[in-house]
Amino acid sequence: MTDYRLPITDYRVVCLAGGVGGAKLAAGLAEIVPPANLTIIVNTGDDFQHLGLTVCPDLDTVMYTLAGVANPETGWGRAGESWRTMEAVARLGGPDWFRLGDLDLATHLTRTQLQGEGQTLTAVTRHLCSHLHIQPAILPMSDQPAPTMIASADGRILPFQTWFVRERWQPPVRQIILPEDVKATHTVVRALETADIVIIAPSNPFVSIDPILNVYPIRALLEDVPQVVTAVSPIIGGQAVKGPAAKMMQEMGMEVSATAVAAYYGDLVDLFIYDRQDAGAFVGRGDAVALDTMMLDGDGRLRVATDVLQATLEYLNA
Ligand code: GDP
Repeated sequence: MTDYRLPITDYRVVCLAGGVGGAKLAAGLAEIVPPANLTIIVNTGDDFQHLGLTVCPDLDTVMYTLAGVANPETGWGRAGESWRTMEAVARLGGPDWFRLGDLDLATHLTRTQLQGEGQTLTAVTRHLCSHLHIQPAILPMSDQPAPTMIASADGRILPFQTWFVRERWQPPVRQIILPEDVKATHTVVRALETADIVIIAPSNPFVSIDPILNVYPIRALLEDVPQVVTAVSPIIGGQAVKGPAAKMMQEMGMEVSATAVAAYYGDLVDLFIYDRQDAGAFVGRGDAVALDTMMLDGDGRLRVATDVLQATLEYLNA
């Protein structure tokens, strides 16, 4: 039985997160780390303009999950969603390949309006979070646009959402292209400069975590500042729980395994958490711990977050 009363109150924790996998761990962490000590830095490489609106899929998934309003079936979008606007867009011959629910649209409308008034994405996200009664800080990795592009094996260069949603992540990936010269905000830099523990959530390493690490100077701060960087494997039992991580690994010539994820993060990570299902197969250089990392519901999120923090504190105090 896990002891949920961790002595975590003295540590400042930063979590790097993409969408669904990241949001689940972030929500678990939010239950045990005091809000003033928890910052979640979120990938914005998937952001794009659609129907004239700024859409930030990973920020929204993290926000909705922490606010308890996410759709429990999909893990993204809002619970109790309706689609009347999208149906009307389709009837008008508008672009309906990226579906925005009626409730979800309220987020994109408000964000786009506030940005139009001159607010940064960081300020807009703070505004949205406060109205959703979210206490921990959720920060976009940058206030600058930082679009992730996918170079497909058939020679095309596709914006991330075109590849992911419109083409249902089917075109084989040759390379992931991340933008140059994107800078982190002061708020992100300050959070990392004062972090004791950084946790890399079980998000897609290539299109959720790498875009964050690519933002200057996030990778360098991770190398220098925190006492410990812990990463959680998104690959369980040699497969992705969801989404294209495993397919991408195959297409980029990697073995699909927790071992390969650990090797990919390399020295950046001090403590690697992989799933017990992979215990027989895992081979890693540094410190690594096997845990049950599947988060199927709220209890699972709390359990995994607690166990990950516990393992991290044990590493720190060893
Ligand atoms: P996306 O932006 O919505 O694709 O979300 P992320 O990048 O944050 O998460 C996708 C990754 O999370 C996938 O590679 C999944 O394998 C992984 N994932 C999803 N749920 C879980 C879970 O419960 N446990 C673990 N360990 N990984 C998960």
